[in-house]
Amino acid sequence: MRFVNEYRGPEAAARFARALEQAVTRPWTIMEICGGQTHAIIKFGIDQLLPDRITLVHGPGCPVCVTPVELIEKAIAVARLPRVVLCSFGDMLRVPGRSGDLLAAKAAGADVRVVYSPLDALALARAHPDREIVFFAVGFETTAPATALAVHQAAREGLKNFSLLVAHVLVPPAIEAILSSEAVRVQAFLAAGHVCTVMGWEEYVPIARKYRVPIVVTGFEPLDILQGIHMAVLQLEAGRAEVENQYSRAVRREGNAAARRLIGEVFEVVPRKWRGVGEIPDSGLGLRDNYAAYDAERRFALEAHSCDESPECISGLVLQGVKKPPECPAFAVACTPEHPLGATMVSSEGACAAYYRYRRAAAELPGGRRH
Ligand code: SF4
Repeated sequence: MRFVNEYRGPEAAARFARALEQAVTRPWTIMEICGGQTHAIIKFGIDQLLPDRITLVHGPGCPVCVTPVELIEKAIAVARLPRVVLCSFGDMLRVPGRSGDLLAAKAAGADVRVVYSPLDALALARAHPDREIVFFAVGFETTAPATALAVHQAAREGLKNFSLLVAHVLVPPAIEAILSSEAVRVQAFLAAGHVCTVMGWEEYVPIARKYRVPIVVTGFEPLDILQGIHMAVLQLEAGRAEVENQYSRAVRREGNAAARRLIGEVFEVVPRKWRGVGEIPDSGLGLRDNYAAYDAERRFALEAHSCDESPECISGLVLQGVKKPPECPAFAVACTPEHPLGATMVSSEGACAAYYRYRRAAAELPGGRRH
């Protein structure tokens, strides 16, 4: 398959592994931000190809995983209201909140529907003017343009029965939060290529300078990731801290100007709570005042409840690269994809789900722990 097979060649992967072996002189810890990259790393065994002195840790780049319990509770509450249709990406349905999940709400009679785009939810609003259509807008900068387009279009058409429960989050403030943490052990980052396709990479330059940390914009195929790691290691070994672009076939420095303009017209930057991590300043998107009529939280006067994570779940530490999933005592024991305790075991981009799917064999877990 074009644009896939050429980025998966085992011989080229072996060449990168040899180049890394020659380049590395001391231990380095590198974080891949995106859950899609985490799954590729674990699925293709990229971490097992690397020299022992390179440690990969997994970052918070799974939007389903970081959506706070409070917003899931609000989604459940609005879904239970009469005449409401709650539209969501499928991954969100089994993420545990405090009082259950959206799938349980659906089983109990709430009208919860899986959509593949906010524009699908907009089409429902047009087709059912007697119903209130609420889209659960989860995602990073990657999905924000489509959400912005949907609400922009709703306003143009004068649709009154469409609204958003907004949970969009931003990557750069999360990187800063990780670097400001006392537990930080990350020395370089692989930034998420698809986020940078939209946003470009200029906003990472001040972070690289301030924290003296290399950031390499990286794609998602195995050779992309190996090359991104190689570029990061070369910077670390040379004492450089710059932003470099491995994913040049998709990412331009300035990103996608039209998409950025649309995001800026509809959304403003707001503080956002991240599940397991806590509130990060300026790390979310909220609707601007001129789009307030499309804000489901205001339209349905949804109340905020503070909610705690399951005490057994250490996903906050996993999302910050402090622990790996098999280090969680509940991993594959009390917590499985069928009975998840935390969001990172549910989402298709969650780190715990990646280890559960690809590394459950006891020999592959640290210390040979059995499950
Ligand atoms: S294995 Fe389950 S309980 Fe442990 S961190 Fe992952 S989601 Fe949380």
